[in-house]
This record gives sequence, structure tokens and C-alpha cells, in this order.
Amino acid sequence: MAGTPDNPLRVAVVGSGPAGFYATGHLLAAKDVTASVDLYDRLPTPFGLVRAGVAPDHPKIKSVTKVYEKTAARDGFRFLGNVEVGRDITHAELKERYHAVIYAYGCERDRHMGIEGEDLPGSWAATEFVAWYNGHPDYQDLDFDLSAKRAVVIGNGNVAMDVARMLVLPREELEGTDTTDAAIEAIAESGVEEVVIVGRRGPAQAAFTNPELRELGELTDADVIVDPAEVELDRHSARSIEGDGEITHRRNVEILTGYAGREPVGKPKRVVMRFLRSPVAIHGDGKVESIELVHNELEHGGDGRIRAQSTGERETLECGLVFRSIGYRGAPVEGVPFDDWHGTIPNQEGRIVDPSAQNVVPGEYVAGWVKRGPSGVIGTNKRDAQETVEHVLDDLAEGRLADPRDADPDGVLALVRERQPDVVAYDGWEAIDAAEKAAGEPLGRPRVKFTRIEEMLASSRT
Ligand code: FAD
Repeated sequence: MAGTPDNPLRVAVVGSGPAGFYATGHLLAAKDVTASVDLYDRLPTPFGLVRAGVAPDHPKIKSVTKVYEKTAARDGFRFLGNVEVGRDITHAELKERYHAVIYAYGCERDRHMGIEGEDLPGSWAATEFVAWYNGHPDYQDLDFDLSAKRAVVIGNGNVAMDVARMLVLPREELEGTDTTDAAIEAIAESGVEEVVIVGRRGPAQAAFTNPELRELGELTDADVIVDPAEVELDRHSARSIEGDGEITHRRNVEILTGYAGREPVGKPKRVVMRFLRSPVAIHGDGKVESIELVHNELEHGGDGRIRAQSTGERETLECGLVFRSIGYRGAPVEGVPFDDWHGTIPNQEGRIVDPSAQNVVPGEYVAGWVKRGPSGVIGTNKRDAQETVEHVLDDLAEGRLADPRDADPDGVLALVRERQPDVVAYDGWEAIDAAEKAAGEPLGRPRVKFTRIEEMLASSRT
């Protein structure tokens, strides 16, 4: 049986975000099992959304990478950066070379609103903006014209809050972060004076968390504005936040009620929170000029959920920018079952399920956002990955993992190098990391990120 020092359990983990790293950590720390993990990422840099999603003005959150660095220092760890699974190596090829494959490649695609005008210039996915200001190499050629006076952010999750906050941060605050230089310049010089955050349902249903909401009330350059009439709860909403498990929603309502009672102090910018509104169309002649919203009321469904229902009443808001932040989905990898409706890989507690046969596929697993959808904080992926790894280890113990045809670590590296000569190993990433930090140091910034793959590769070779 595999799992001994002579015959280690060989696992490919696809995606080096939190879920991939936690899964790797649990495998390498497993008692009585010797594992060897190849952690793949399509980028030369690891850490997924911790690097390319988490807002640059939240450096403490990014320090979670110290835990991942410890995992990378364990015996049996190997990073194969700049290797895209599905392109540089296929699922079938991984299956032939590992006892188990864990997919942890996140939800990189955004959901669309499906409304008229959504594709007008000036209408963006929040993720595009986030990836751009965070230096993700795929998004650096996007041209954000931030000259509009009003931007509208659609959605009530933490990503919407990040986007709204970043849009009004002053230059001094941006300059102490690892926001890209292009983004610092564009945001600091932007014409945006008002950001309107639009939620489909009411304050009691919003998905953002308390610290993110509190931050909006503490912005240096922007007053937060909430209409008192929009925080008044209907009967069902008031009841829904009473339970013990509802503390976040209850506190959100308290904070918003506090904002509604505040007088603006005359800061140069405003963040306005609107509730019970859904976008129905974006209008403009060749670019975004306004957004049409329909008013909603809340309906209590039989299943206990509180849904937004249109009242038919409409309003139009002039704006030059729209950022939609209404959810994310994973992309399919050829040969791996995929649930197109949810944008995730179908699974039972992390064991991949073939939906046509309704059975578990031996040796194939999933963790993180692509397992459960785009919800939860970084720490949520730890428990999630642990659940998956426990099933890998159970399957090993029960003899359910087939021996791969070719378990030789050198063999798989040679195969990948045939297609992608520039595989970045972990010491290559460490060289990138050191160079970025060194560039940031004299400027008092945590790092200055490389934003182009070629720059990253050149740095990884030093
Ligand atoms: P990801 O972090 O997305 O990692 C997936 C990895 O897979 C990436 O590195 C990607 O390059 C790689 N990959 C994709 N496709 C392939 C492929 N085909 N082959 C190889 N590699 C591939 N949580 C918090 O706790 N605090 C926050 O402040 C916070 N801010 C957030 C801000 C934003 C904008 C977003 C979107 C999320 C934020 N989150 C935050 C949530 C947190 O980032 C997620 O819970 C977490 O990153 C999900 O982890 P994951 O490993 O499943 O996916």
C-alpha cells in the first residue's frame, strides 16, 4: 500500500490558493502516512486570492501566507508554478501519475447580470477591477477610465465593499500598500466622488461582514450615507435576525442604523448604500451613462428564505461606471465532472461525484471555492480542505486508491517541461518574493508586485 517512505502517497493538488495550501498541509502532516504533494498553479506566484483578491489595504489578512510558507518547507512538498492544468497537463495525465488528484482551483469566472447594456464600456466585473489593482498578470491591459463622478457597485458581499472602499481611498493610503502603481495613479486621480452600493434585498440579508461594514464608516475621504427608510425592517426580516446564529446580520443592521442616523461631515466623497434595488438595464451611447434600478419588496418563501420581488417601480441613476459583484463560478477542466448551474465540481464532502452515474470517482477530490462555491473567508477553506483530505486518507486506508501507472516525480516534471519549459519551482517563487519585497522596502511598501509573467519568470531565475 502507498503511504510509506519507500512508496509515498503521490498527490497532485491543483491550485495554490488557501484551499490548495491547506489540503497540502493536511496531507504532509498526516500521521502514519508519508505523502508527497505536487502543488500546481497556473501562475508563477502562489496563494491565489490572498495575493490577487484580498484588498491591498488589508495587509494583516495577507499575512496568512506565513502558514502556507511553513507547509512549503515540509518534506514531500513541490511547487509547479506557471503550469495550467487542462492546458499544460491534462486530467487524464495527472490520473496516470498520482494516487489522488485534488482540485482546488477556485472560482475565477464572474457571474453576469443578464441585463441590457451590461457590455457597455464602463461596465465591469468587480473581479476585473480587483485583479487589476492587485497586479494579476491576466488583467493588466484593462483600461479603467475612472473619470466618472459616480460609480455604482452591484452586490452586497465583501467584494462589493472592497471595491467601493478602494475607489475612494486617498493617495497617501494607497501608497503604503502593494496596489499596483498604475492603479494607485488611476484611483488617486479618479473623478469618482460618489460610490453607490446597491443590494437586491434588505440590510438584514446583506452578505458583507461587520468589520468590512464598519470600515466604510471610518473612511478618511468619504462620508457613508444610508437612507433611514431603507434600514427599517419588515416583520420577517426583523424576526430572521433574532436567532443565535444571526449575530453578523444583526450587527450589520445595528451598524447601518447607526449610519442612517449620522449627518455627513462634508468629506469630499460619499459612499451611499441603497437596499431593495435590482439593476434592470444599463444605458448609454457607446459607454455607461446611467443605470436603471427596479425597487424590490421582500417576500417570505415557504422554504424560510426571504426573496426580493420587484414592485415594478423604477428609478434611473446617472453614473459612468458599474461594477457587478454578484457571484463567481469555477471553470470546467476537461475530463472532470462539472456542475454548470452552480459553477462547481459535484462532490460528496470533497469526493468528486460523476453526476451521470451518481457515484464517487475514485482518486478524484475537490476543495475550496470550486467545491462549495464562492463563500466563506480564508479560514473556511481550512476545515473544508481537512474534510477532503480525511476522505483521501480513508480511501487510501480502505484500498480504494489505484496505483498510478507512473509515479516517478521526475517523469511528470519532464512531461510538464515539454509543454511548459518555464515551470517555476518554490525557490523560484521565493526569488520573486524577495525581489518584490526589496523593491517595496525603500518606499515603505510591503512589496512592489511584478505584474507581467515575463518579469516574474526573469526574477524567478535569479
Ligand atoms: P483561490 O484563492 O481562487 O485559488 C485558486 C488558485 O488556483 C489560484 O492560485 C489560481 O491561479 C489557480 N488555478 C486556477 N485554475 C487553474 C488551473 N487550471 N491550473 C492550475 N492552477 C489553477 N477572505 C478573507 O478571509 N478575507 C478577505 O479580506 C477576503 N477578501 C477577498 C477579496 C476578494 C476580491 C475575493 C474574491 C475573495 C476574498 N476573500 C477573503 C475570500 C478568499 O479569498 C477565498 O475564501 C479563498 O481565496 C478561496 O480559496 P481557493 O483556494 O478555493 O481559491
